[in-house]
Amino acid sequence: MKKNWIEKDLNTLPIQPNLLDYVKERESFTWEDVADQLDGLPSGGLNIAHEAIDRHANGPLADKTALIWLGERGERKCYTFADMKIQSAKFANVLTTLGFSKGDRIFTLSTRLPELYIAAIGILKNRSVMCPLFSQFGPEPILQRLKRGDAKALLTTQALFDKKVRPLLGELPELRTVFLIDAQEDESDQVRSLKRLMESASDTYEILPTDPEDMSILHFTSGTTGMPKGVVHVHKAIYTHWISGQYVLDLHASDIYWCTADPGWVTGTSYGIITPWLHGVTNVVDEAEFDAVRWYSTLQNERVSVWYTAPTAIRRLMRLNSEPTKEYDLSPLRLIQSVGEPLNPEAVIWGMEKLKMPIHDNWWQTETGGIMISNFLSQQIRPGSMGRPLPGIEAGIVHHNDDGTVTEVTEPLKEGELALKPGWPSMFRGYLHDDERYAKSFIGGWYLSGDLAYKDEDGYFWFVGRSDDIIKTSGHMVGPFEVESTLMEHPSVAEAGVIGKPDPMIGQLVKAFVSLRAGYEATEELRRELIGFGRKRLGSAVAPKEIEFIENLPKTRSGKIMRRLLKSREMGLPEGDISTLED
Ligand code: ATP
Ligand code: MG
Repeated sequence: MKKNWIEKDLNTLPIQPNLLDYVKERESFTWEDVADQLDGLPSGGLNIAHEAIDRHANGPLADKTALIWLGERGERKCYTFADMKIQSAKFANVLTTLGFSKGDRIFTLSTRLPELYIAAIGILKNRSVMCPLFSQFGPEPILQRLKRGDAKALLTTQALFDKKVRPLLGELPELRTVFLIDAQEDESDQVRSLKRLMESASDTYEILPTDPEDMSILHFTSGTTGMPKGVVHVHKAIYTHWISGQYVLDLHASDIYWCTADPGWVTGTSYGIITPWLHGVTNVVDEAEFDAVRWYSTLQNERVSVWYTAPTAIRRLMRLNSEPTKEYDLSPLRLIQSVGEPLNPEAVIWGMEKLKMPIHDNWWQTETGGIMISNFLSQQIRPGSMGRPLPGIEAGIVHHNDDGTVTEVTEPLKEGELALKPGWPSMFRGYLHDDERYAKSFIGGWYLSGDLAYKDEDGYFWFVGRSDDIIKTSGHMVGPFEVESTLMEHPSVAEAGVIGKPDPMIGQLVKAFVSLRAGYEATEELRRELIGFGRKRLGSAVAPKEIEFIENLPKTRSGKIMRRLLKSREMGLPEGDISTLED
C-alpha cells in the first residue's frame, strides 16, 4: 500500500470541525443523545417535515434563507424557513382536502423546481409517502415505478405530463390525481393545476402524530447491477441524517451548502433536502444539469462553503485541465464530500492541486438511507479509501461460508463483503413487494451490502468492487476499481471501466474501456503504452490485457459506470434493464 496519506492541519481550517476526536466521539456516542437534539412532534412522535422546516420556522431562524433556487435560465429565488413552512402547509392541505392520507404514495416527476422541494415537505407533513422519480426517465420506467409503487398521485410539469405520462393514464387506474406545477387551469377532475389548488389552500397545517417507524420515502435504486429495487424508509431515518450532517458534512449555522444530486436519487433527498434543513442551513438548488463553468460560477457566486458532489462530476471537471482557483473566487469553500462511486485517488490529489483541498470520499447506499462510512474533515485522508464508520455505525468485513452462514474477517487487509450491524435508524425497512430479498440481505447479525472491500490496520475501509463486478482471472480475484484507478494515473486517461471478459484459458480476461482526456488521440501506440503502463504498475496478473477506447462510458443517470452493460455488450448478450441508462 502506498502511503500518500494526507494530513490535516486543524489550524488552517476556517471553522473548528464538529468532529475532532474520532475515537472518543465513537466511544461516547449514543443514539439517545441524538434524540435530545431533535424537537419531537408537538402532537406526538417524530416527523421529518417538522424537524426540517417547521421547527426552524417557529423559532429564531424563521427569516433565514432555507432555499436558494437557481433556475436554468438564470433566475434566482430565495425562500425562508417561514416561506417553506407556509408553502408546504398549503400543499399538505391540498393533499388532505383531496382525501390523501397516511401511507398514500405520492410520486414526483419534476426537474429541480422549488415546487418539488415544497411538495416533498408537504407530502411528509401529510404523513403520505414521497416517491421521487428522476425527470429524465422515459415513459416505460415511469410506468413501471408508478405501478410497482402503487401511485395514488403524481406531481409533475405540463411538459413532462404531455410527453411522458398522458399516454400512460389508461394503465394507471389507481392514480387519482395529477398535479401540474405550471398549469394555469385544471384540465379535468384528475389533472389539476397546482397553482389553483395552492391559491385556495389554508397556509396552516398541524402535523398529526407520526410514528417514527411510519414510512416516509420510497426510493428506487440506481439500477447499476440490475433491475432497480424499491427501497422503503421511515421518519426515524433523520437520526442518521442529523449525525452525518454534523460529522460528515460538518454543517454549521453560517454555511451555504450545495448538494448537486437530483432528488430522483437518494443523495438528492437525504442530503439535497433533509439534512441541510435539519441543521437549519441554507441549501442551494440548481435546476440545470452539469456544466463546468456554471458549477464553478455557482460555487463562487453563492459563496458555497460545503459542497457534496459525485466522482462522475469530479472526473468531468478533471478532464478540462482548468485552474479553478485562479479563474474563480472559491475562498468560502471549506469542505468537499463525494459519494456514489469509488473516488479514485487521482481525484483526491487533483482536489489538492486544483481546488486547494482534498475531496472527501464517503460510502453508503439507497438501502442505508444515509452516510455510513466517511473521511472526516478533521482526520487524515488515505486517498482511495472510503474512510471510517460514523459514530453509531458498526461496519465489518465478512466471508460467506459454504453452509450459508457468514463470519467476520477480523484480520486486516483481507477482502470480503462489506457488512453493517443492523439497527441504525435510517436502515431500510423493506424492499417493495420483495420480502424474500429483504430477508436475504441479513445473515448472522449483519446486513450484507453486496460490495466487496477490506479494512486496514487502522479501521479505514477500502472499496474493491461490487460483488457482481469482481473479475476472476487465472485464479486471482481482481476488483475493477484498483485497475481503473491505476489507469487514471496515466495523463491521457479521463475515465476507465474494467470488466472480466470470459476466456477459455484463464477464466476471465481483464479488459479496460478507456475514455481519453482532451488533447489525446486514440492511437494504437497509446493503446500499447497503456497496456505497458498497466503491467508495470499492477503486474501482469492484474493488468488489463485488452484496452478499448470509448468516447463515453455507459453510466446510470446518477452517474455510475455500468460495468454490467460494458460486459453484456462485449459478449453480445441482452442488455437487461437499462431504464436508468444515461442518454
Ligand atoms: P442497484 O442496487 O440498483 O444496482 P446502485 O447500487 O448503484 O444500484 P445506489 O444505492 O444508488 O444504487 O448506490 C449504492 C452503491 O454505490 C454502493 O453499494 C456502492 O457499490 C456504490 N458506492 C456508493 N458510494 C461509494 C463509494 N464512496 N465508494 C465506492 N462505491 C460507492
Ligand atoms: Mg445497490
